[in-house]
Amino acid sequence: MLYTSTRDKSKHLDFSDIIKLGISPDGGLFVPENLPNLTYEDIQNMKDMNYQELSYTIFKKFIDDFTDKEIKDCVKNAYNEDKFDNEDIAPVNALNDRTFILELWHGPTCAFKDVALQILPHFIIKSVKHTNDKNHYVILVATSGDTGKAALEGFKDVKGTSIIVFYPLDGVSAMQKIQMITQRGNNVYVIGVKGNFDDAQAGVKKIFADNILNNMLSSNGIKLSSANSINWGRLVPQIVYYISSYLHLVKSNAIKGGEEINVAVPTGNFGNILAAFYAKKMGIPIHKLICASNSNNVLTDFIDTGLYNRNRDLIKTSSPSMDILISSNLERLLFEICDRDSSYISNLMTDLSRSGEYVIDKKAHEKLDHLFYGGYADENTTVESIRNTFIKYMYLVDPHTAVGLKVLSDYRRKSGDTRPALVASTASPYKFPDVILKALGLDISKYNIKDEFVKLNLLSEITGTQIPYNIKVLENASIRHIGKCNKTDMSKVIANILLK
Ligand SMILES: *Cc1c(COP(=O)(O)O)cnc(C)c1O
Repeated sequence: MLYTSTRDKSKHLDFSDIIKLGISPDGGLFVPENLPNLTYEDIQNMKDMNYQELSYTIFKKFIDDFTDKEIKDCVKNAYNEDKFDNEDIAPVNALNDRTFILELWHGPTCAFKDVALQILPHFIIKSVKHTNDKNHYVILVATSGDTGKAALEGFKDVKGTSIIVFYPLDGVSAMQKIQMITQRGNNVYVIGVKGNFDDAQAGVKKIFADNILNNMLSSNGIKLSSANSINWGRLVPQIVYYISSYLHLVKSNAIKGGEEINVAVPTGNFGNILAAFYAKKMGIPIHKLICASNSNNVLTDFIDTGLYNRNRDLIKTSSPSMDILISSNLERLLFEICDRDSSYISNLMTDLSRSGEYVIDKKAHEKLDHLFYGGYADENTTVESIRNTFIKYMYLVDPHTAVGLKVLSDYRRKSGDTRPALVASTASPYKFPDVILKALGLDISKYNIKDEFVKLNLLSEITGTQIPYNIKVLENASIRHIGKCNKTDMSKVIANILLK
């Protein structure tokens, strides 16, 4: 299996190369040259596999340059009972006989990014080894919350790597901050930046582009790399859970083998839903891909009209991981629906960076409209969705998942399509206690409750659900990272850490 770039089809690279590079030097994203197909026989054989065996089977189709043992090691290191609190890794929960929740938050940080970020570090170190690269890899992350913690947990104590996370001092939730500043591990650094997320991200981009610093690091055997969601190594693990959940529905007799389902995904950077698209293309019977946004509904408009327009203000919502105006992974979908025409994609992306918008041709828009339904939930409907789901099913969802459920119900009402549907649940409700307590009728501001763990205990008591272990232990965890810096000093911080 070779990979090419969405902006230059003449490129042909191995898995090891694209994992190390992350993004193509032409600015494009890496995609497989030929997507593997799952035959009826493949699907039959996969039915009785556990999550680890299934992951191995799917990865093998995408990775030519690792040995079988290497792929197995990656899987074993990532998906085990020390890391995930559910042996199915990504279990499926039935709300009723047509609506199923794919719980993707049983990993160390209680958000779906764990599924990919637990295995990416192992893909990276094996790729480094395969290319005879002797460098020490340092992962740089600017985070608005979930990615930073998930990357820290993924890379902690992984030999041959270190990780440095910059988070905005005014920009992450209380729980996200607690998760990061208590991080354990001998190769981890967490630094608060005086500023917002854009400041932190701009600072990290500058460091990557700083030739003097990078040359200095290089002569010390150090290479900087990133773990963000455009790395193909984060996408391929996400394809696995759409296959495992489909097989689960068949095995549990919720659907017949071969029966079509719809899939609803709360979407930000378009990575998770793109994985569902690939699963469909590989042969999993998925009918509609339901793209759910919050008030930052650029994608809803795009699916409706074919015009992508980021020229609008970013709205801060209660589902912060979807507060995004440029969904980077969309580029991969465009490549597929525009007949893999890399020069056409290059032009669209030039339009986007010049004017903040682009429009796709009519034929591509028809394909998009056929494959996807786009919808959104505003702040009030998100809160209502949390409340209604709990009242109706006694099942607690986080605000991102609530957006997915709301858009699914809009889709069903508008289309009359009653196919069974799977909703990707992307975070544990315990990561967002404020909005959930509010949805359940408790106004915490009125009670003047400031302590996060008091809120969590309250949530646990009134819903009869349990605080996830990995969140509960933070109450008594000691603070290990107190570093802060100005947004102009991030390069200096890196040099101090790495060149001492
Ligand atoms: C990252 C994230 C999303 C968005 O996923 P994309 O792959 O970026 O579309 C949704 N929900 C949660 C909780 C997340 O952390």
